[in-house]
Amino acid sequence: MKIKNFGLAIHGGAGTILRTSMSDEKEREYKSALREAVEKGYLILEQGGSALDAVESAVIVLEDCPLFNSAKGSVYTHDGKHEMDASIMNGSNLDAGAVSLIHSVKNPIKLARLIMEKSEHVMLAGEGAIQFAKEHQVSFEDDQYFHSEFRYEQLQSALKTGSVLLDHTDSDQKFGTVGAVALDQYGNLASATSTGGMTNKKWGRIGDTPIIGAGTYADNSTCAVSCTGSGEYFIRTVSAFHVHSLMKYGGYTLDRASHKVIHEILPSIQGDGGLIAIDGFGNIILDFNTEGMYRAMKNSSQCKIEIYQ
Ligand code: ASP
Repeated sequence: MKIKNFGLAIHGGAGTILRTSMSDEKEREYKSALREAVEKGYLILEQGGSALDAVESAVIVLEDCPLFNSAKGSVYTHDGKHEMDASIMNGSNLDAGAVSLIHSVKNPIKLARLIMEKSEHVMLAGEGAIQFAKEHQVSFEDDQYFHSEFRYEQLQSALKTGSVLLDHTDSDQKFGTVGAVALDQYGNLASATSTGGMTNKKWGRIGDTPIIGAGTYADNSTCAVSCTGSGEYFIRTVSAFHVHSLMKYGGYTLDRASHKVIHEILPSIQGDGGLIAIDGFGNIILDFNTEGMYRAMKNSSQCKIEIYQ
């Protein structure tokens, strides 16, 4: 039986995103990229496609957009390279795929899905993941594709201060990790998240994005979640799984569970960021404890595209 309350939400990162430091033109660019991604994912749902296809397609639109910190727009590591992470999860059977510390792959989210569907593993990293990608005819791009002067300057200033930056925390740096969650017409949930990580990261640092349960989680019995923020805190609080567990074992609604994670559990260890989530009834949450979060949602009754608090 088909359900009518299907829907989709996306994010493009949470952080210090202030109206006062954003030009009208930039705001228009962000909103139009968010619109394109949410429309693309929603169309798939409307046409009877799966939640998995919808979240993957929405994330690909954001990965291909230089405004966000994932794939094409990825930040620079300490060594002036790009190391990308991504994960995807299917709430109908708890299948999951994740990839970490990869470079040159045009769409890391496609690779995460291939790992889920074509390998017997959940997570592949580094050169092994690249090898797997080559064996599965994944598209690669050269260094120039991932370069932007702006990102390079971001690294130079982080190197000067020795800081590791959440790329959208500085007022001039308003780009972020991307993610999507969806409920399809068959009642299936899925989530996907993709990132370039944090500017000036070293030593093969891995954030929450590719860690199932931290940055991404989906289970048809509760919800689908995708997180953004300083990954270390999301790992330590197992944030995405935490929302699921509060619902599953604590009887929380999606709203209360997300609120507890974002406004109580994360702040208790000074964690900053946000999450998007959807439950099996089609309730959608777009919540954050920072100044802003690039976000959008669409279902049969409304379409919202927002940036600030
Ligand atoms: N969560 C990501 C990470 O820690 C960063 C982000 O959300 O922008 O790698």
